[in-house]
Amino acid sequence: MSAAGFRRVALIGIGLIGSSLARVLRRDSPGTGIVACARRPETLDAARRLDIADAATDDPAAAVDGADLVVIATPLSAYAEIGRRIAPALREGAILTDVGSVKEAVIRDLRPHIPPGVQFVPGHPVAGTEHSGPEAGFAELFRDRWCILTPLPETAPDATDAVRGVWERAGMRVVTMEPAHHDLVLAMTSHLPHLIAYTIVGTASDLEETLKSEVIAFSAGGFRDFTRIAASDPVMWRDIFVNNREAVLEMLQRFSEDLTALQRAIRWGEGDRLQEWFTRTRAIRRSIIEAKQA
Ligand code: NAP
Repeated sequence: MSAAGFRRVALIGIGLIGSSLARVLRRDSPGTGIVACARRPETLDAARRLDIADAATDDPAAAVDGADLVVIATPLSAYAEIGRRIAPALREGAILTDVGSVKEAVIRDLRPHIPPGVQFVPGHPVAGTEHSGPEAGFAELFRDRWCILTPLPETAPDATDAVRGVWERAGMRVVTMEPAHHDLVLAMTSHLPHLIAYTIVGTASDLEETLKSEVIAFSAGGFRDFTRIAASDPVMWRDIFVNNREAVLEMLQRFSEDLTALQRAIRWGEGDRLQEWFTRTRAIRRSIIEAKQA
C-alpha cells in the first residue's frame, strides 16, 4: 500500500481540481498509480506532459478498471453519464468520491449507479481559483481550506475516513454535513457571490461604449475584484446554478430584500443605517481573516 492507502487512483476529469489532487498524490505518495480521464486529446496530452498521470484515457470505464479510489472531478452535467459508464467496471471494495460544488444533485445523479460492494463518499474540497484545466492546478491549492464530505446513510464509516485522509494529507480541514445543508451554505458563501459578480460585470458590458471604456480604465474601485470572480468557468457555473436551484433562489430572495432595504436607506438619506450595516460587514471580513480563510 502507498502512503495514501490507495494503490491505484482514477481521476475522471483532470482540470483545476483533479490535477491539483494528482500533484498532491505525486508529491506525497509516489507509490500510488494515477489514471487520468478526460474527453479531449489535448487534455490527456497535458496530463502526460505534466507527469501527473501514469496512464491517460478518454474512456471512463477503462480508467476505473482496477482502481481502489475513483474521484469524479468533471463539471456536474457529466456526472450521470459517467456514473452509468463506470458502474460495470468498478471493482468490489472500491471507493467512489467526487469534488462537485453541489451535493444533492450529485447524489441524485450517481447513487442509482453505485453497484453493491462499492462505497460512495460525496465530497467537496472548498478551494479554487478562476482558472481551469490541467495546467492551472497546483498542490498547495487545498492547504488550510475546508473540505466538506456528505456521506450517505449506507456509506461505511471506514470509507469516509479513507477519503477524509486523502484531503487531510492535502492540507485540508475536513467536516461532514448533510447534503442539503451543504447546498444551502454554499449557495450563500459561493454561488450567490458568483451570481452577483456575473450580474455586475454583465451590466457593465451592456453600457454604451464611452462609459464602458471608463469602467475598464477606472476598474480599481471595486469592479476589478468582481471581474476576477466573473472570469470563472462558464460551464462549471452554469451547472452549479442549474443543479442548486432551490438553495440559490432562497438566498437570492433574502439578498434582494436586503438590497431593497439599503436602496431605501440611500433614497431617504438614512446615513446611520448605512454606516451601521457597513460596520457589521467590516467585522465579518475581519473574522474571515482571523480564521485564515481570506
Ligand atoms: P476544469 O478545470 O474545467 O476541469 C474539468 C475536467 O473535466 C477537464 O479535465 C475536462 O477535460 C474533464 N471533463 C469534462 N467533461 C468530461 C467528461 N464528460 N468525461 C471525462 N472528463 C470530462 O474544472 P474544475 O474547476 O477542476 O472543476 C471540476 C469540478 O470541481 C466541478 O464539478 C466543480 O463544481 C468542482 N469544484 C470546482 C472548484 C473551482 O473553484 N474550480 C472548486 C471546488 C469544486 P476535457 O474537457 O478534455 O474533457
